[in-house]
Amino acid sequence: MNEFELIARYFDRGPPRRALLGIGDDGAMIGPSRVARTVVCDLLVAGRHFFPDVAPDSLGHKALAVNLSDLAAMGARPEAFLLGLAIEQVDEAWLDGFSRGLFALADRFDCELIGGDTTRGPLTISITAIGELDAGAVSRRDRAEPGDDLWVSGELGAAAIAVAARRAQPDRPVGVDRARAQHRLDWPEPRVALGLALRHLARAAIDISDGLVADLGHLATRSRVGLHVQADQVPVDPALAAMPDDAALQAALNGGDDYELAFTALPENRLAIEAIGRQMDLRLSRIGEVSAGQGVQVVDARGRPVRLARMGHDHFAAAGS
Ligand code: ADP
Ligand code: MG
Repeated sequence: MNEFELIARYFDRGPPRRALLGIGDDGAMIGPSRVARTVVCDLLVAGRHFFPDVAPDSLGHKALAVNLSDLAAMGARPEAFLLGLAIEQVDEAWLDGFSRGLFALADRFDCELIGGDTTRGPLTISITAIGELDAGAVSRRDRAEPGDDLWVSGELGAAAIAVAARRAQPDRPVGVDRARAQHRLDWPEPRVALGLALRHLARAAIDISDGLVADLGHLATRSRVGLHVQADQVPVDPALAAMPDDAALQAALNGGDDYELAFTALPENRLAIEAIGRQMDLRLSRIGEVSAGQGVQVVDARGRPVRLARMGHDHFAAAGS
């Protein structure tokens, strides 16, 4: 049973009764609809989502950043968050760094810590974040339509290569700007301003946390459409510029931990979206289109299917369950 089958079988009890949007998107939504809130929750476990010896300030930053990324995908403005924290022992230097990294990011987005829970246990961080949004202008996963353009922000693949590099021999993989890749892994920048700017331009959106193709798969399933991706349009992080082309592309397609936004929009919005990218100094790439059908298809410049090395993160796949 994979992560998504597990949720479907034990926790998803069908359409929400009281919420405006329930399980299945980047965030849930609660009303009333003119002053709605979106709520997101992400869990980070030492040894699974991060190396236990990671610098505490970057961990504090990242724990909140991954939640703000989900808020951004919904087109929400960050408002407040709750912090669940399990720590092995009280290490004041660690707590000092962690809280500094956490609040530096929180303050940038005026997102206030309003509660949580703290206990002794294996290092685990669970943040629940709340954002304000207009329920009529939400970027949901289930709103893509055939004929939409498919876009992605930023540059992909570096964080996954930083993880691979840490696990491999010191000189592997070759051709990687290790410092830049490590920075992408440790200090992801949540695309909050982009999410807000896209509220009336994007039709569907998702944040890329588990790998571009895997997360596009969720969007395709929820919208009941097919997604057609042109591999040569996928923005590969410059940190991977000297890697063999295929290895860099595979990292960009299947890596993870990118925290960029993928979204669909009407072709008539192209100029407006390009203008937003220029204004924010953020690369926005049109990587394909939405079609009738299902699933995600990646093709090369000659239209031939690109074989994918592996499909995104599934936290239960490796357990053989
Ligand atoms: P994300 O990558 O944005 O965190 P996922 O695609 O991993 O979202 O999760 C799919 C959906 O399942 C989300 O709406 C999430 O809130 C929901 N979900 C995950 N775990 C649980 C759980 N234990 N109980 C209820 N809903 C869950
Ligand atoms: Mg998400």
